[in-house]
Amino acid sequence: MKKTGFVYHELYTWHDTGNYAGFMAPGFPLQPGMHNEHPETKRRFKNLLDASGFIDTLHLIKPRDATEEEILRFHTPDYLQRVKDMSAIGGGDAGELTPVGHGSYEIAKLSAGGLIAAVDSVMAGECDNAYVLNRPPGHHADADMGRGFCIFGNIVIAAKHALETMGVERIAVVDWDVHHGNGTETAFYDDPRVLTISMHQDNWYPQGRGLVTDVGEGKGEGYAVNMPLPPGSGTGAYEAAFDRVVVPALRAYKPDLIFVASGFDASAFDPLGRMMMHSAGYESLTNKLMALADDLCEGRVVMAHEGGYSPYYVPFCGLAVLEAMSGQKSGVQDPYLDFAAGMGGHDLQPGQDQILSQAEAVVRRYLL
Ligand SMILES: [Zn+2]
Repeated sequence: MKKTGFVYHELYTWHDTGNYAGFMAPGFPLQPGMHNEHPETKRRFKNLLDASGFIDTLHLIKPRDATEEEILRFHTPDYLQRVKDMSAIGGGDAGELTPVGHGSYEIAKLSAGGLIAAVDSVMAGECDNAYVLNRPPGHHADADMGRGFCIFGNIVIAAKHALETMGVERIAVVDWDVHHGNGTETAFYDDPRVLTISMHQDNWYPQGRGLVTDVGEGKGEGYAVNMPLPPGSGTGAYEAAFDRVVVPALRAYKPDLIFVASGFDASAFDPLGRMMMHSAGYESLTNKLMALADDLCEGRVVMAHEGGYSPYYVPFCGLAVLEAMSGQKSGVQDPYLDFAAGMGGHDLQPGQDQILSQAEAVVRRYLL
């Protein structure tokens, strides 16, 4: 059993993404409605932890605000000011597809700071690993603009905190969100201190990013690994991605600390992804990662919540991951699992195998 830290704050669900139609601003011909990145997906995850009693097994970590100095280790001063002003006047868009509501600046600081608090707690040995159920998400944000619902680059900010103030020398970021972890990759593209590994649906968001040939540049060449999997990839592809690419890459790189950009939008029920993962699949990936982290870095894994847009299915994926991180069971059965696991095509398919072979070659060339 492990002591798993958990970060959450009610204000995370008060970040207001407004009256949208999916991820588009409404107005004819789009009937107004709800933004995909609405609070319910995350709130229901927390509610399932509460209702099942599993929350009592977790070590609760209080989030704090990231300071401006911490945010400015990644973001430009102009961008920080723009978000602050926009949030104060009642909202706007921080760049591309990134709604900012009234007060979203303060909540985004608390979101990034939640991850910093988790890193501090894990590095101090107060807990073995930690999950941060924060909002807004972070892995698409660039230094000078928001992207894809992400205002501040939460993992980048927390990684820089660890690198620059805690003596951590090597960090790995494993991104299993269905979208490419472009913000994290760009931030460390020429930096060998951070190995970024992203598995994502081929050419979905941002388009043109996350190609298998994108491997980093300069001193960072070889320290970015991408697996752009075809739509329809299931547990066979994700298991193979871990066994053949993620595990060998991490074993070779030997990180001191591992972040996971934990989006659950690769699930079979997600409206913004076309993959077929399910709770047992995420549990299995987490078990592999925990065993590896025990070998490499005393189990130090910090997960940051990213995407995942099915309000009814995200909670079961999240619970499965927390069970695997902590080695404890909630007793809750995923009521959707049989449907998701019964879908056709879960076995590794030839097109998926081909992408993984190319990613294996990248790992062999640069890291082994
Ligand atoms: Zn996503």
